[in-house]
Amino acid sequence: MELYSLTVSEIARKIKEKEITIKEVLDSVYNRIENVEEKVSAYVTLTKEQAYNRATKLQERLDNGEDIGIMGGVPIAIKDNICTNGIKTTCSSKMLENFVPFYDATVIEKLENAGAIIIGKTNMDEFAMGSSTENSAIKKTKNPWDLERVPGGSSGGSAAAVACDIAPCALGTDTGGSIRQPASFCNVVGLKPTYGLVSRYGVVAYASSLDQVGPLTKSVEDAAILLNVIAGKDEKDTTSADIPKKDYLKSIKDDIKGKKIGVPTEFISDGINEDVKKAYEENLNTLKELGAEIIEIKLDYAKYSLPTYYIIATAEASSNLGRYDGIRYGHRAKDFSSLDELYVKSRTEGFGDEVKRRIMLGTYVLSSGYYDAYYKRGQKVRTLIIDDFKKAFEKCDVIAIPTTPNTSFKFGEKTSNPLEMYLEDIYTVPVNIAGLPGISVPGGFDKNGMPIGMQFISKAFDEENLLQVAYTFEKNTGFNMKKPNV
Ligand code: GLN
Repeated sequence: MELYSLTVSEIARKIKEKEITIKEVLDSVYNRIENVEEKVSAYVTLTKEQAYNRATKLQERLDNGEDIGIMGGVPIAIKDNICTNGIKTTCSSKMLENFVPFYDATVIEKLENAGAIIIGKTNMDEFAMGSSTENSAIKKTKNPWDLERVPGGSSGGSAAAVACDIAPCALGTDTGGSIRQPASFCNVVGLKPTYGLVSRYGVVAYASSLDQVGPLTKSVEDAAILLNVIAGKDEKDTTSADIPKKDYLKSIKDDIKGKKIGVPTEFISDGINEDVKKAYEENLNTLKELGAEIIEIKLDYAKYSLPTYYIIATAEASSNLGRYDGIRYGHRAKDFSSLDELYVKSRTEGFGDEVKRRIMLGTYVLSSGYYDAYYKRGQKVRTLIIDDFKKAFEKCDVIAIPTTPNTSFKFGEKTSNPLEMYLEDIYTVPVNIAGLPGISVPGGFDKNGMPIGMQFISKAFDEENLLQVAYTFEKNTGFNMKKPNV
Protein backbone atom coordinates (compact mmCIF):
# COMPACT_ATOMS: atom_id res chain seq x y z
CA MET A 1 0.00 0.00 0.00
CA GLU A 2 1.30 3.44 -0.94
CA LEU A 3 2.01 5.80 1.94
CA TYR A 4 -0.22 8.49 0.45
CA SER A 5 -3.27 6.30 0.83
CA LEU A 6 -2.84 5.76 4.58
CA THR A 7 -4.96 7.36 7.28
CA VAL A 8 -3.72 9.85 9.86
CA SER A 9 -3.61 7.23 12.59
CA GLU A 10 -1.62 4.82 10.42
CA ILE A 11 0.89 7.45 9.28
CA ALA A 12 1.43 8.76 12.82
CA ARG A 13 1.97 5.25 14.18
CA LYS A 14 4.38 4.19 11.44
CA ILE A 15 6.45 7.34 11.88
CA LYS A 16 6.53 6.97 15.65
CA GLU A 17 7.60 3.35 15.41
CA LYS A 18 10.29 4.31 12.87
CA GLU A 19 8.81 2.04 10.24
CA ILE A 20 8.92 5.01 7.86
CA THR A 21 10.47 8.47 7.88
CA ILE A 22 8.57 11.74 7.70
CA LYS A 23 10.38 12.55 4.47
CA GLU A 24 9.15 9.32 2.90
CA VAL A 25 5.57 10.32 3.70
CA LEU A 26 6.03 13.78 2.20
CA ASP A 27 7.72 12.31 -0.90
CA SER A 28 4.80 9.97 -1.41
CA VAL A 29 2.12 12.64 -0.98
CA TYR A 30 3.87 15.26 -3.14
CA ASN A 31 4.49 12.67 -5.83
CA ARG A 32 0.84 11.83 -5.82
CA ILE A 33 0.06 15.55 -6.04
CA GLU A 34 2.32 15.80 -9.08
CA ASN A 35 0.35 13.04 -10.80
CA VAL A 36 -3.18 13.96 -9.82
CA GLU A 37 -3.43 17.66 -8.97
CA GLU A 38 -3.45 18.67 -12.62
CA LYS A 39 -6.71 16.78 -13.09
CA VAL A 40 -8.40 17.70 -9.82
CA SER A 41 -7.09 21.24 -9.02
CA ALA A 42 -7.70 21.03 -5.29
CA TYR A 43 -4.88 23.33 -4.21
CA VAL A 44 -4.50 27.09 -4.44
CA THR A 45 -0.99 27.04 -2.96
CA LEU A 46 1.50 24.26 -2.25
CA THR A 47 3.96 24.77 0.59
CA LYS A 48 6.53 22.19 -0.36
CA GLU A 49 9.66 23.97 0.85
CA GLN A 50 8.27 24.83 4.28
CA ALA A 51 6.89 21.31 4.59
CA TYR A 52 10.25 19.63 3.91
CA ASN A 53 12.05 22.02 6.28
CA ARG A 54 9.60 21.20 8.99
CA ALA A 55 9.89 17.47 8.27
CA THR A 56 13.65 17.59 8.79
CA LYS A 57 13.25 19.32 12.14
CA LEU A 58 10.52 16.98 13.33
CA GLN A 59 12.54 13.92 12.29
CA GLU A 60 15.55 15.21 14.22
CA ARG A 61 13.47 15.66 17.32
CA LEU A 62 11.95 12.20 16.92
CA ASP A 63 15.38 10.65 16.43
CA ASN A 64 16.51 12.38 19.62
CA GLY A 65 13.81 10.51 21.47
CA GLU A 66 11.40 13.45 21.79
CA ASP A 67 7.62 13.09 21.58
CA ILE A 68 6.61 14.99 18.44
CA GLY A 69 2.86 14.92 19.08
CA ILE A 70 -0.16 12.83 18.17
CA MET A 71 -0.01 14.01 14.56
CA GLY A 72 3.78 13.90 14.46
CA GLY A 73 4.83 14.12 10.80
CA VAL A 74 1.33 13.85 9.35
CA PRO A 75 0.69 16.06 6.28
CA ILE A 76 -2.45 18.20 6.27
CA ALA A 77 -4.11 20.51 3.74
CA ILE A 78 -5.76 23.72 4.96
CA LYS A 79 -8.74 25.53 3.48
CA ASP A 80 -7.61 28.88 2.17
CA ASN A 81 -9.71 30.97 4.57
CA ILE A 82 -7.65 29.91 7.58
CA CYS A 83 -4.73 32.25 8.28
CA THR A 84 -1.27 30.74 7.95
CA ASN A 85 1.72 32.81 8.95
CA GLY A 86 3.81 33.69 5.89
CA ILE A 87 1.61 31.63 3.54
CA LYS A 88 -0.92 33.26 1.22
CA THR A 89 -4.51 33.07 2.44
CA THR A 90 -6.72 34.10 -0.46
CA CYS A 91 -10.25 32.91 0.41
CA SER A 92 -10.19 32.10 -3.32
CA SER A 93 -11.00 35.75 -3.93
CA LYS A 94 -9.38 38.44 -6.04
CA MET A 95 -9.92 40.62 -3.00
CA LEU A 96 -7.28 38.72 -1.01
CA GLU A 97 -5.23 37.39 -3.93
CA ASN A 98 -1.98 38.66 -2.41
CA PHE A 99 -2.81 38.52 1.28
CA VAL A 100 -0.05 36.96 3.37
CA PRO A 101 -1.01 36.81 7.06
CA PHE A 102 1.67 37.51 9.65
CA TYR A 103 0.10 35.26 12.24
CA ASP A 104 -1.38 31.77 12.50
CA ALA A 105 -4.98 30.95 13.28
CA THR A 106 -5.29 29.17 16.63
CA VAL A 107 -6.17 25.90 14.87
CA ILE A 108 -2.91 26.12 12.90
CA GLU A 109 -0.91 26.68 16.09
CA LYS A 110 -2.60 23.69 17.65
CA LEU A 111 -1.93 21.49 14.62
CA GLU A 112 1.72 22.46 14.60
CA ASN A 113 2.05 21.79 18.32
CA ALA A 114 0.66 18.33 17.61
CA GLY A 115 3.32 17.74 14.96
CA ALA A 116 1.23 18.13 11.78
CA ILE A 117 2.85 19.43 8.58
CA ILE A 118 0.95 21.86 6.34
CA ILE A 119 1.40 20.79 2.73
CA GLY A 120 -0.80 23.36 1.01
CA LYS A 121 -3.88 25.58 1.00
CA THR A 122 -7.03 24.37 -0.68
CA ASN A 123 -9.49 25.92 -3.09
CA MET A 124 -12.95 27.02 -1.97
CA ASP A 125 -15.98 29.06 -2.94
CA GLU A 126 -15.04 32.71 -2.61
CA PHE A 127 -15.27 33.70 1.09
CA ALA A 128 -16.90 30.28 1.72
CA MET A 129 -20.10 31.29 -0.08
CA GLY A 130 -21.34 28.43 -2.20
CA SER A 131 -22.01 24.71 -2.45
CA SER A 132 -19.87 23.66 -5.42
CA THR A 133 -16.54 25.55 -5.27
CA GLU A 134 -17.56 27.07 -8.63
CA ASN A 135 -17.49 30.49 -6.95
CA SER A 136 -13.70 30.35 -6.60
CA ALA A 137 -12.03 33.25 -8.41
CA ILE A 138 -8.90 31.17 -8.75
CA LYS A 139 -9.64 27.76 -10.25
CA LYS A 140 -12.16 25.04 -10.82
CA THR A 141 -11.82 22.03 -8.51
CA LYS A 142 -13.16 18.78 -9.96
CA ASN A 143 -14.79 15.90 -8.16
CA PRO A 144 -12.28 12.99 -8.23
CA TRP A 145 -15.21 10.56 -8.75
CA ASP A 146 -16.19 12.26 -12.01
CA LEU A 147 -14.12 15.13 -13.33
CA GLU A 148 -17.19 16.65 -14.99
CA ARG A 149 -18.89 17.10 -11.64
CA VAL A 150 -18.43 19.50 -8.75
CA PRO A 151 -16.70 18.47 -5.52
CA GLY A 152 -19.30 20.33 -3.45
CA GLY A 153 -18.46 23.37 -1.41
CA SER A 154 -17.42 25.56 -0.05
CA SER A 155 -14.59 23.34 1.26
CA GLY A 156 -14.43 21.58 -2.13
CA GLY A 157 -10.65 21.67 -2.41
CA SER A 158 -10.18 20.05 1.00
CA ALA A 159 -12.74 17.31 0.30
CA ALA A 160 -11.38 16.54 -3.18
CA ALA A 161 -7.80 16.45 -1.88
CA VAL A 162 -8.61 13.89 0.83
CA ALA A 163 -10.78 11.84 -1.55
CA CYS A 164 -8.02 11.32 -4.12
CA ASP A 165 -5.21 10.83 -1.60
CA ILE A 166 -3.36 14.07 -2.26
CA ALA A 167 -3.79 14.92 1.43
CA PRO A 168 -4.24 12.42 4.27
CA CYS A 169 -6.52 14.92 5.99
CA ALA A 170 -7.63 18.53 5.73
CA LEU A 171 -9.32 21.36 7.57
CA GLY A 172 -12.44 23.03 6.27
CA THR A 173 -14.99 25.48 7.60
CA ASP A 174 -18.73 24.97 7.85
CA THR A 175 -21.22 27.84 8.07
CA GLY A 176 -24.19 26.05 6.53
CA GLY A 177 -22.76 22.73 5.39
CA SER A 178 -19.42 23.53 3.80
CA ILE A 179 -17.60 20.63 5.45
CA ARG A 180 -20.35 18.00 5.41
CA GLN A 181 -21.73 18.62 1.92
CA PRO A 182 -18.40 18.35 0.04
CA ALA A 183 -17.45 15.41 2.27
CA SER A 184 -20.62 13.67 1.12
CA PHE A 185 -20.03 14.55 -2.57
CA CYS A 186 -16.46 13.16 -2.41
CA ASN A 187 -16.92 10.11 -0.13
CA VAL A 188 -14.90 11.32 2.84
CA VAL A 189 -15.72 12.01 6.48
CA GLY A 190 -16.55 15.63 7.37
CA LEU A 191 -17.16 16.86 10.90
CA LYS A 192 -18.66 20.20 11.91
CA PRO A 193 -18.06 20.57 15.65
CA THR A 194 -20.41 22.29 18.11
CA TYR A 195 -20.33 26.07 17.75
CA GLY A 196 -17.67 27.29 20.18
CA LEU A 197 -15.76 24.02 20.51
CA VAL A 198 -13.05 25.09 18.06
CA SER A 199 -11.50 28.56 18.03
CA ARG A 200 -12.35 30.85 15.11
CA TYR A 201 -9.38 33.12 15.79
CA GLY A 202 -7.59 33.67 12.51
CA VAL A 203 -10.38 32.19 10.42
CA VAL A 204 -11.66 34.69 7.87
CA ALA A 205 -15.20 35.43 9.00
CA TYR A 206 -18.19 34.76 6.79
CA ALA A 207 -21.12 34.56 9.26
CA SER A 208 -19.67 34.70 12.75
CA SER A 209 -22.57 33.13 14.65
CA LEU A 210 -22.52 30.09 12.34
CA ASP A 211 -18.88 29.53 11.25
CA GLN A 212 -16.96 26.58 12.66
CA VAL A 213 -13.70 24.87 11.67
CA GLY A 214 -13.59 21.09 11.36
CA PRO A 215 -11.73 18.14 9.85
CA LEU A 216 -12.17 16.27 6.56
CA THR A 217 -10.66 12.81 6.83
CA LYS A 218 -10.62 9.27 5.45
CA SER A 219 -12.08 7.76 8.61
CA VAL A 220 -14.14 8.66 11.66
CA GLU A 221 -11.20 7.73 13.87
CA ASP A 222 -9.08 10.34 12.08
CA ALA A 223 -11.83 12.93 12.59
CA ALA A 224 -11.63 12.21 16.34
CA ILE A 225 -7.83 12.57 16.29
CA LEU A 226 -8.06 15.95 14.57
CA LEU A 227 -10.81 17.09 16.91
CA ASN A 228 -8.61 16.16 19.87
CA VAL A 229 -5.98 18.47 18.42
CA ILE A 230 -8.07 21.50 17.43
CA ALA A 231 -10.77 21.64 20.14
CA GLY A 232 -10.46 23.78 23.23
CA LYS A 233 -11.00 27.13 24.86
CA ASP A 234 -9.10 30.01 23.29
CA GLU A 235 -8.68 33.35 25.04
CA LYS A 236 -8.44 35.00 21.63
CA ASP A 237 -11.98 33.95 20.65
CA THR A 238 -14.66 35.19 23.01
CA THR A 239 -17.20 32.77 21.56
CA SER A 240 -15.03 29.77 22.31
CA ALA A 241 -16.53 27.57 24.99
CA ASP A 242 -14.91 26.84 28.32
CA ILE A 243 -15.60 23.15 28.64
CA PRO A 244 -13.32 20.43 30.02
CA LYS A 245 -10.99 18.89 27.46
CA LYS A 246 -12.15 15.48 26.28
CA ASP A 247 -10.48 12.57 24.54
CA TYR A 248 -12.73 11.84 21.57
CA LEU A 249 -10.98 8.55 20.87
CA LYS A 250 -11.68 7.09 24.28
CA SER A 251 -15.15 5.70 23.77
CA ILE A 252 -15.32 5.79 20.00
CA LYS A 253 -15.36 2.00 19.65
CA ASP A 254 -18.10 1.38 22.23
CA ASP A 255 -21.06 -0.42 20.76
CA ILE A 256 -24.27 1.40 19.97
CA LYS A 257 -26.76 -1.15 21.30
CA GLY A 258 -29.80 0.60 22.70
CA LYS A 259 -28.83 4.00 21.30
CA LYS A 260 -31.86 5.92 20.18
CA ILE A 261 -31.55 7.29 16.67
CA GLY A 262 -34.05 9.99 15.73
CA VAL A 263 -35.45 10.13 12.22
CA PRO A 264 -37.37 13.25 11.08
CA THR A 265 -39.33 11.49 8.31
CA GLU A 266 -41.59 14.44 7.52
CA PHE A 267 -38.72 16.90 7.13
CA ILE A 268 -36.97 14.72 4.57
CA SER A 269 -39.96 13.70 2.51
CA ASP A 270 -39.76 16.42 -0.18
CA GLY A 271 -37.35 16.88 -3.05
CA ILE A 272 -35.04 14.03 -2.17
CA ASN A 273 -33.36 11.99 -4.88
CA GLU A 274 -34.55 8.35 -5.10
CA ASP A 275 -31.08 6.82 -4.76
CA VAL A 276 -30.24 9.00 -1.77
CA LYS A 277 -33.51 8.00 -0.13
CA LYS A 278 -32.92 4.32 -0.77
CA ALA A 279 -29.38 4.43 0.62
CA TYR A 280 -30.64 6.33 3.67
CA GLU A 281 -33.30 3.72 4.39
CA GLU A 282 -30.82 0.88 3.98
CA ASN A 283 -28.43 2.66 6.31
CA LEU A 284 -31.15 3.00 8.95
CA ASN A 285 -31.68 -0.75 8.69
CA THR A 286 -27.98 -1.35 9.22
CA LEU A 287 -28.11 0.78 12.37
CA LYS A 288 -31.11 -1.21 13.57
CA GLU A 289 -29.26 -4.47 12.98
CA LEU A 290 -26.40 -3.08 15.05
CA GLY A 291 -28.78 -2.72 17.98
CA ALA A 292 -29.82 0.91 17.70
CA GLU A 293 -33.43 1.87 18.15
CA ILE A 294 -34.96 4.01 15.40
CA ILE A 295 -37.34 6.64 16.72
CA GLU A 296 -39.59 8.98 14.77
CA ILE A 297 -39.01 12.63 15.65
CA LYS A 298 -40.43 15.95 14.50
CA LEU A 299 -38.49 19.00 13.42
CA ASP A 300 -41.40 21.29 12.68
CA TYR A 301 -39.44 24.46 11.94
CA ALA A 302 -36.50 22.88 10.13
CA LYS A 303 -38.25 23.56 6.83
CA TYR A 304 -37.72 27.27 7.48
CA SER A 305 -33.98 26.81 7.92
CA LEU A 306 -32.97 27.97 4.48
CA PRO A 307 -34.73 31.35 4.50
CA THR A 308 -33.59 31.85 8.08
CA TYR A 309 -30.02 30.97 7.15
CA TYR A 310 -29.93 33.24 4.12
CA ILE A 311 -31.14 36.16 6.25
CA ILE A 312 -28.79 35.66 9.18
CA ALA A 313 -25.74 34.57 7.18
CA THR A 314 -25.98 37.37 4.64
CA ALA A 315 -26.61 39.98 7.35
CA GLU A 316 -23.47 38.89 9.17
CA ALA A 317 -21.52 38.61 5.93
CA SER A 318 -22.44 42.14 4.86
CA SER A 319 -21.02 43.39 8.12
CA ASN A 320 -17.93 41.14 8.15
CA LEU A 321 -17.01 41.97 4.57
CA GLY A 322 -17.22 45.72 5.17
CA ARG A 323 -13.53 45.72 6.05
CA TYR A 324 -12.47 44.93 2.48
CA ASP A 325 -12.48 48.47 1.23
CA GLY A 326 -9.10 48.73 -0.44
CA ILE A 327 -7.73 50.67 2.52
CA ARG A 328 -7.94 48.53 5.62
CA TYR A 329 -7.91 45.24 3.78
CA GLY A 330 -7.90 43.79 0.33
CA HIS A 331 -7.48 44.65 -3.31
CA ARG A 332 -7.13 48.36 -4.09
CA ALA A 333 -8.34 49.79 -7.40
CA LYS A 334 -5.72 51.68 -9.39
CA ASP A 335 -7.69 54.59 -10.83
CA PHE A 336 -9.90 56.65 -8.58
CA SER A 337 -10.56 60.32 -8.01
CA SER A 338 -12.32 60.28 -4.64
CA LEU A 339 -12.50 58.19 -1.51
CA ASP A 340 -15.95 56.93 -2.42
CA GLU A 341 -14.76 55.91 -5.82
CA LEU A 342 -11.84 54.05 -4.28
CA TYR A 343 -14.22 52.04 -2.09
CA VAL A 344 -16.66 51.32 -4.86
CA LYS A 345 -14.06 50.39 -7.47
CA SER A 346 -12.01 48.24 -5.12
CA ARG A 347 -15.05 46.28 -4.02
CA THR A 348 -16.46 46.04 -7.53
CA GLU A 349 -13.20 44.64 -8.86
CA GLY A 350 -12.34 42.48 -5.85
CA PHE A 351 -15.57 40.61 -5.16
CA GLY A 352 -17.27 38.04 -7.38
CA ASP A 353 -20.99 37.92 -8.21
CA GLU A 354 -22.13 35.61 -5.41
CA VAL A 355 -20.32 37.62 -2.75
CA LYS A 356 -21.86 40.82 -4.09
CA ARG A 357 -25.31 39.23 -4.16
CA ARG A 358 -24.98 38.29 -0.49
CA ILE A 359 -23.63 41.65 0.61
CA MET A 360 -26.62 43.32 -1.04
CA LEU A 361 -29.08 40.87 0.48
CA GLY A 362 -27.49 41.22 3.91
CA THR A 363 -27.49 45.01 3.76
CA TYR A 364 -31.15 44.92 2.74
CA VAL A 365 -32.32 42.68 5.59
CA LEU A 366 -30.46 44.87 8.09
CA SER A 367 -31.71 48.19 6.70
CA SER A 368 -33.88 50.20 9.07
CA GLY A 369 -37.04 49.77 7.01
CA TYR A 370 -36.78 45.98 6.78
CA TYR A 371 -34.90 45.01 9.93
CA ASP A 372 -38.01 43.89 11.82
CA ALA A 373 -39.55 42.12 8.87
CA TYR A 374 -36.46 40.08 8.02
CA TYR A 375 -33.53 40.07 10.39
CA LYS A 376 -35.53 40.14 13.61
CA ARG A 377 -37.96 37.56 12.34
CA GLY A 378 -35.05 35.40 11.20
CA GLN A 379 -33.64 35.48 14.74
CA LYS A 380 -37.03 34.45 16.14
CA VAL A 381 -37.29 31.50 13.81
CA ARG A 382 -33.73 30.59 14.76
CA THR A 383 -34.91 30.22 18.36
CA LEU A 384 -37.79 28.01 17.24
CA ILE A 385 -35.39 25.76 15.34
CA ILE A 386 -33.11 25.52 18.39
CA ASP A 387 -36.15 24.50 20.50
CA ASP A 388 -37.13 21.92 17.89
CA PHE A 389 -33.80 20.17 18.33
CA LYS A 390 -33.96 20.44 22.13
CA LYS A 391 -37.29 18.65 22.10
CA ALA A 392 -36.03 16.02 19.68
CA PHE A 393 -33.05 15.26 21.88
CA GLU A 394 -35.34 14.53 24.81
CA LYS A 395 -36.36 11.47 22.81
CA CYS A 396 -33.17 10.40 21.05
CA ASP A 397 -29.37 10.37 21.41
CA VAL A 398 -28.45 11.11 17.83
CA ILE A 399 -30.40 12.23 14.76
CA ALA A 400 -29.75 10.59 11.38
CA ILE A 401 -30.56 12.36 8.12
CA PRO A 402 -29.01 12.36 4.65
CA THR A 403 -26.29 15.00 4.24
CA THR A 404 -27.75 16.31 0.98
CA PRO A 405 -30.92 15.73 -1.03
CA ASN A 406 -28.88 15.01 -4.18
CA THR A 407 -25.47 13.74 -5.14
CA SER A 408 -22.81 15.77 -6.96
CA PHE A 409 -24.02 17.67 -10.04
CA LYS A 410 -22.31 18.73 -13.26
CA PHE A 411 -20.46 22.02 -13.61
CA GLY A 412 -22.79 24.86 -14.53
CA GLU A 413 -25.93 22.87 -13.75
CA LYS A 414 -27.00 25.10 -10.88
CA THR A 415 -24.99 28.28 -11.35
CA SER A 416 -27.68 30.15 -13.24
CA ASN A 417 -30.21 29.65 -10.47
CA PRO A 418 -28.82 30.54 -7.02
CA LEU A 419 -31.99 29.31 -5.28
CA GLU A 420 -31.50 25.84 -6.67
CA MET A 421 -27.93 25.86 -5.39
CA TYR A 422 -29.13 27.04 -1.95
CA LEU A 423 -31.56 24.10 -1.78
CA GLU A 424 -28.62 21.69 -1.68
CA ASP A 425 -28.02 22.81 1.91
CA ILE A 426 -31.45 22.00 3.28
CA TYR A 427 -30.21 19.14 5.51
CA THR A 428 -27.00 20.75 6.70
CA VAL A 429 -28.07 24.32 7.47
CA PRO A 430 -30.37 23.57 10.49
CA VAL A 431 -27.36 22.17 12.34
CA ASN A 432 -25.45 25.46 12.08
CA ILE A 433 -28.52 27.49 13.00
CA ALA A 434 -28.82 25.47 16.20
CA GLY A 435 -25.04 25.45 16.82
CA LEU A 436 -24.96 21.65 17.00
CA PRO A 437 -22.30 19.18 15.89
CA GLY A 438 -22.88 17.17 12.71
CA ILE A 439 -20.86 14.61 10.82
CA SER A 440 -21.15 13.29 7.28
CA VAL A 441 -19.93 9.74 6.75
CA PRO A 442 -19.78 7.87 3.42
CA GLY A 443 -23.21 6.24 3.08
CA GLY A 444 -23.38 4.57 -0.33
CA PHE A 445 -23.41 5.36 -4.05
CA ASP A 446 -26.04 6.42 -6.58
CA LYS A 447 -26.70 4.77 -9.94
CA ASN A 448 -23.91 6.83 -11.55
CA GLY A 449 -21.45 5.66 -8.92
CA MET A 450 -21.40 9.04 -7.19
CA PRO A 451 -21.03 9.07 -3.39
CA ILE A 452 -23.94 9.57 -0.98
CA GLY A 453 -23.49 10.96 2.54
CA MET A 454 -25.09 9.85 5.79
CA GLN A 455 -25.33 12.58 8.39
CA PHE A 456 -25.50 12.26 12.17
CA ILE A 457 -26.34 15.13 14.52
CA SER A 458 -26.04 15.23 18.30
CA LYS A 459 -26.64 17.57 21.22
CA ALA A 460 -24.18 20.41 21.66
CA PHE A 461 -20.78 19.26 22.96
CA ASP A 462 -21.82 15.62 22.65
CA GLU A 463 -19.26 14.79 19.95
CA GLU A 464 -18.36 11.61 21.84
CA ASN A 465 -21.77 10.13 21.18
CA LEU A 466 -21.78 11.43 17.63
CA LEU A 467 -18.40 9.92 16.79
CA GLN A 468 -19.33 6.63 18.41
CA VAL A 469 -22.38 6.16 16.19
CA ALA A 470 -20.48 7.36 13.12
CA TYR A 471 -17.56 5.03 13.85
CA THR A 472 -19.74 1.95 14.27
CA PHE A 473 -21.67 2.84 11.13
CA GLU A 474 -18.48 3.26 9.13
CA LYS A 475 -16.91 0.04 10.39
CA ASN A 476 -20.01 -1.97 9.49
CA THR A 477 -20.65 -0.49 6.07
CA GLY A 478 -17.12 0.23 4.81
CA PHE A 479 -18.27 2.74 2.16
CA ASN A 480 -15.25 4.89 3.06
CA MET A 481 -12.89 2.18 1.77
CA LYS A 482 -13.96 2.70 -1.82
CA LYS A 483 -11.72 5.13 -3.72
CA PRO A 484 -12.18 7.09 -6.93
CA ASN A 485 -10.22 6.12 -9.99
CA VAL A 486 -8.29 9.22 -10.86
N1 GLN B 1 -23.51 26.56 0.89
C1 GLN B 1 -23.76 27.44 2.00
C2 GLN B 1 -23.60 28.87 1.57
O1 GLN B 1 -23.37 29.09 0.43
C3 GLN B 1 -22.86 27.10 3.14
C4 GLN B 1 -21.51 27.65 3.00
C5 GLN B 1 -20.64 27.35 4.16
O2 GLN B 1 -20.96 26.49 4.99
N2 GLN B 1 -19.56 28.10 4.25
O3 GLN B 1 -23.73 29.78 2.37
